[in-house]
Amino acid sequence: MNYYRKNFSHIYVEKAIKDHPETERILESFPHSTIVDIERYMDVFSPTYQDFYSEKASQKIILAKSVSTLLFPGAPVCQSFGNDHFYYCSGVMNCIYDCEYCYLQGMYPGANMVIFVNLEDTFKEVEALLAKHPVYLCISYDTDLLALEGILGFVKKWIEFTKLHPSLTVECRTKSAGFDLVEALDIPDNFIFAWTLSPDEVARKYEHRAPNLSARLESIKRAQSKGLSVRLCFDPILHVTNYLLFYSAFFERVFSELDIDLITDVSIGTFRISKSYLSSMRKKRPCEITTYPYETSGGYYSYSDAVNTKLLDMAEKEISRYIPAEKIFRI
Ligand code: SF4
Repeated sequence: MNYYRKNFSHIYVEKAIKDHPETERILESFPHSTIVDIERYMDVFSPTYQDFYSEKASQKIILAKSVSTLLFPGAPVCQSFGNDHFYYCSGVMNCIYDCEYCYLQGMYPGANMVIFVNLEDTFKEVEALLAKHPVYLCISYDTDLLALEGILGFVKKWIEFTKLHPSLTVECRTKSAGFDLVEALDIPDNFIFAWTLSPDEVARKYEHRAPNLSARLESIKRAQSKGLSVRLCFDPILHVTNYLLFYSAFFERVFSELDIDLITDVSIGTFRISKSYLSSMRKKRPCEITTYPYETSGGYYSYSDAVNTKLLDMAEKEISRYIPAEKIFRI
């Protein structure tokens, strides 16, 4: 909790949701923060001069009301796992972790975290979609929702909502070690926890502030010991020096520690990002990840076809030693 207090010294609150029960509940977690009233979140989130990394070093929270949809069609670079009607929900913008490869750095003008508190309106929108067709919805793309569960409690709300709607499938993707915060809940089969895992060598170097591999694995084991089947995401697999050595030892560790029968499926993907996001990231954070000489195709940057094939083939070969091929989804 100290971590949040240090970072969230100021909470900006839109007047429109000042009296919303979620606002009041969230503010209770920050008795020492300075509360600042604002008209619209964009006044704080998108001023013309802003330094992403100064803000990241001392993140602030902005509590806001969503006035337009937060549901968007899944992007072609995201894995749908064979589901039709694939959407994602952007109910929180930005993340407490700081992965060097994260597209949020290219997508948003600032690093402060915007939280739309009127979740009930998003639920109504999802119900309107469900009246037309089944829905596959990723709720933790533009943030790590489980990492924020201690202050938001939104994962619990989504679990309860999902339980009421059998034709809805929700994916909650995370690098968090905080499964204990939802462990006591009755989690339905159509709510899928998906952990993104990386070798420790990669996590230490590029996934700042995120829990290490052991902590993530412990969280997955807690979920599995409750009988939950989980999704594993090895994405992005990075083209790092000694990648073969790191990744094969890593896959062996992951699949020897986890219950293989309680793995729903696995996704593998390499680093890929839209051209505009990478250009912005290169200006904001020139580092090994952003300055790599990627190739461009269809508006996206990624490794060359040869490198992508080499990394994905390696991962698929290693993982298929433990998991049936039909459960491995490759981008
Ligand atoms: S955990 Fe995900 S959303 Fe958060 S910084 Fe890392 S890549 Fe971005």
